[in-house]
Amino acid sequence: SMILSFESSCDETSVAVIKNGNKILSNVVATQIKSHQRFGGVVPEVASRHHIEEITICINDALQRANVTYDDLTAVAVTYGPGLVGALLIGVTAAKVVAWAHNLPLIPINHIAGHIYATNFVKPITFPAMALVVSGGHTELVWMPKEGKFEIIGETRDDAAGEAFDKIGRVLGINYPAGPTVDAMAQKGKDTFAFPRAMEADDNYDFSFSGLKSAFINTVHHADQIGKTLNKNDLAASFEAAVVDVLAEKSQSALEKYPAKEFILAGGVAANHGIRERLASVASKENVEFVKAPLKLCGDNAAMIGAAAAAMQHHQEAGKASLNADPGLEFEWAPNEN
Ligand code: ATP
Ligand code: MG
Ligand code: FE
Repeated sequence: SMILSFESSCDETSVAVIKNGNKILSNVVATQIKSHQRFGGVVPEVASRHHIEEITICINDALQRANVTYDDLTAVAVTYGPGLVGALLIGVTAAKVVAWAHNLPLIPINHIAGHIYATNFVKPITFPAMALVVSGGHTELVWMPKEGKFEIIGETRDDAAGEAFDKIGRVLGINYPAGPTVDAMAQKGKDTFAFPRAMEADDNYDFSFSGLKSAFINTVHHADQIGKTLNKNDLAASFEAAVVDVLAEKSQSALEKYPAKEFILAGGVAANHGIRERLASVASKENVEFVKAPLKLCGDNAAMIGAAAAAMQHHQEAGKASLNADPGLEFEWAPNEN
């Protein structure tokens, strides 16, 4: 198969050409980070405008770099949710136009499924599988009994992990998105502040990061007030240690309960060194194969959408011309049983 895939759910415009589900012929990612940085986060209106400006350039680039033409394509895939509605609409509309004009099937993909299937560039998923998705807007444990079937067994009750990294990073004076810089600082620091590990001992698979975020902010503000200077690397390391502990604890209980053959780590925050290292040891303790999304494919990109489409196209109905963006798309659907 030769899939042209689209991703535009947030602040990355991306178009890729994926061969046979696991070969990246091209993966063009136009990031808008610079335009959003001065606002400290993604501004939806600004994002939509960028997507409109970039999308046709990305399509042409993706085809050219892959050295293919529309005639070589077998399908078109697109993220249709969850995400910013105005942003999603650009990708969905572009994908629909290409599919219609070239008489190709249109495969609608859930963005979070895309993050999970980024691991297909490492190896095909062995089912049943458990996935920990940590990203800018989501933190969830997803049970996948078979291809195309997803069940959220636990999720964050407030902030997502990436959101927490970005917010505490801001307090440390780091530009949006702060995750990668906090990660680098944490590697140089020590876990010296005893930040809370929320819900760690609770008998469920849910997460909460807002208490940790508040504890962090209070610590920094208090030190400011009394004129004390704190070691920023240690602050970062202590924050990250708390996040890592909770993710590890909940993943381990999930792996104890569910008969997973594979444990997947995916999403933008899966690029974090501390998380990658610690969850590898959880998986090995639980005797489960550990597969993490490739570093370069943790953040938003269209390649992962193409991989998800290739794997799932026979498990779901083809998208119709009426396909619409669904900003609050639930990450759960039943596949065709055959
Ligand atoms: P979602 O996927 O939930 O819709 P999103 O697409 O905006 O949200 P992603 O692009 O998947 O989110 O991930 C972006 C997030 O990952 C940001 O919050 C960013 O700070 C965080 N992040 C990226 N690299 C790292 C890292 N090395 N350590 C921690 N966080 C990181
Ligand atoms: Mg992004
Ligand atoms: Fe994402």
